[in-house]
Amino acid sequence: MGMTYIPSTLDEALHLRAEKKARPLAGGSDLMVQSKRGIGLAPEFPFDVMIITGLKELKGIRKLDDGSVEIGALSTPAEIADSDLVPWHVRQAASGMGAIALRNSATIGGNIGNASPKGDLPQPLILLDASVVLASIRGERQMLLDDFILGSKKTALGDDEIIKSIVIPDYDFTYLFYRKIGMRKANAISKLSLSVAAVVKDGEIIDFRAASGAAGPRVIRSRDAENLLKGHKTEEIPEIQESFLDSWNNAISPHAMPLYRRNTTRRMLSYFLSAIYSGKAEGIIEEED
Ligand SMILES: Cc1cc2nc3c(=O)[nH]c(=O)nc-3n(C[C@H](O)[C@H](O)[C@H](O)COP(=O)(O)OP(=O)(O)OC[C@H]3O[C@@H](n4cnc5c(N)ncnc54)[C@H](O)[C@@H]3O)c2cc1C
Repeated sequence: MGMTYIPSTLDEALHLRAEKKARPLAGGSDLMVQSKRGIGLAPEFPFDVMIITGLKELKGIRKLDDGSVEIGALSTPAEIADSDLVPWHVRQAASGMGAIALRNSATIGGNIGNASPKGDLPQPLILLDASVVLASIRGERQMLLDDFILGSKKTALGDDEIIKSIVIPDYDFTYLFYRKIGMRKANAISKLSLSVAAVVKDGEIIDFRAASGAAGPRVIRSRDAENLLKGHKTEEIPEIQESFLDSWNNAISPHAMPLYRRNTTRRMLSYFLSAIYSGKAEGIIEEED
């Protein structure tokens, strides 16, 4: 059984990480479950653990000078969902995570660190080109979250590093869509999720992005598929829609219930595109149940 440490500063935590390879424990909602032993028994970790919940350097949500938003790794889904600084897609995902108790104890750093393809926050963050700030005694580095998450439960986190924060660049989309499909409305792990965003100016699709969650070993974005729409007029959508949908279908690789996941994703993307085509008022595109 490993040792448990409780660092009180980031510097102390980084030394524990470098010297003891202690694994961060934030909300513990993944780590405790993965190490559970049985009813009434405390989890036992086969590695050293450090409880990082007291590190103020990892807390808070703030706007940076360049307009981007920095979310401290210890921010909870409840804090993220409540913050006006956080982009809409990310707030939507945060507000649909687990039940109230989980939304007040889990963290964004843990959701990314766990790197489950069903995790709710990486999907909109990857849509928005968010990056992670990684700290170690060697200094800090920043990399795109899309590059940081390597696969199911695999990340590029060095064994001396801690996720310090997540930075989301400033964007202004004209059309937005978010949908998480679970077994029930609340407290459901995602069966499938999709975020879509587009910038349309004078009838031209200037930017178009989509990100699928739970449709492969990691969050999927396909720049090739996105490029099929970018630069086209919205009136051309009926001509180019099928090749875009086929390209997206080739990009996703759902393991379980592939037909359901493929058809549902296709339907949601078609719905989004028809809304833009039909000249629906700019803003959030809501899909009926
Ligand atoms: C009942 C229940 C319902 C759930 N529902 C959902 C849901 O709807 N949606 C969803 O996405 N998830 C859900 N989860 C999974 C889990 O709650 C989330 O993944 C959560 O965000 C994990 O955060 P945490 O702080 O609890 O992580 P922890 O368990 O503390 O850590 C998870 C992993 O990340 C690493 N880690 C944590 N913080 C850092 C850091 N700062 N730097 C580097 N590594 C770090 C840990 O070492 C560990 O490997 C649910 C879990 C439970 C038990």
